Amino acid sequence: MKCFKCCDELDLEELENPYKDDNDNIICDDCHFYDYEMICPLCEDAFDIRDFKTDKNVWIIVHKNDCDDGTVKPGLYSGKYDDFNYDEYITGFGYLPEDRDIRFVKEYSSSKIEYTRFICFDCGENIIRGEE
Ligand SMILES: [Zn+2]
Ligand SMILES: [Zn+2]
Repeated sequence: MKCFKCCDELDLEELENPYKDDNDNIICDDCHFYDYEMICPLCEDAFDIRDFKTDKNVWIIVHKNDCDDGTVKPGLYSGKYDDFNYDEYITGFGYLPEDRDIRFVKEYSSSKIEYTRFICFDCGENIIRGEE
């Protein structure tokens, strides 16, 4: 069996539980990672960005360097997935985008966060509960 995207042959491990793209095509682990996963800067685990399309909150840590003009506080924010380009969500973040449902949750900073980043769902929940 070949990966639909890069056409590499899937190895035995990949074949056991193959990843699929949005159109149900089988893809290899590498392609899945590049297209669908992000590493959480806090726990360093990978998470599937397609979970953003569920009802779960998207968690964003806004870094203080992105708050220069004082209109946005650094800390934990949550939002809903709305087909945004998630890169833009981060790099365009000197202000709160008015067309997006995003809100300040609590003050938070970590030495592991060096710029505005998405974090995984578990770490977001942990920060809310004060366990981070
Ligand atoms: Zn591939
Ligand atoms: Zn995490």
